[in-house]
Amino acid sequence: MKDDCLFCKIIAGEIPSTKVYEDETVYAFRDINPQAPVHILVVPKEHVCCARAIDETNSQLVAKCFEAIAKIAKAEGLDNGYRVINNCGEDGGQTVMHLHFHLLGGLKLSEKMV
Ligand code: 5GP
Ligand code: ZN
Repeated sequence: MKDDCLFCKIIAGEIPSTKVYEDETVYAFRDINPQAPVHILVVPKEHVCCARAIDETNSQLVAKCFEAIAKIAKAEGLDNGYRVINNCGEDGGQTVMHLHFHLLGGLKLSEKMV
């Protein structure tokens, strides 16, 4: 746990969150400022700052996040599809420096860069 990290505090239960999923590696909770009917943040419990810090020693955390995303999407009824977004660093628009994936769905998503 990184003491000054918002998501580490959420994972530790020091800051309340609306949990939707948890296992030994992954924690998932609803975004406080949802951009879609379903907007869930999926994070590894271990503190990793961002996608750029992923290497061969910790890439299994990403795999576990995506396993969780598939389960959560099913539980949330996103049978027609969804979008997963990772913002990395300043140019990527990352505001919380603890690796996380946005799971967005519940409507036909329109804004699309790629
Ligand atoms: P980023 O901009 O880093 O990709 O995403 C950070 C996300 O965290 C934003 O979508 C923001 O709404 C969300 N967020 C920031 N603070 C909190 C909080 O205290 N609780 C929850 N549930 N979400 C938060
Ligand atoms: Zn953290």
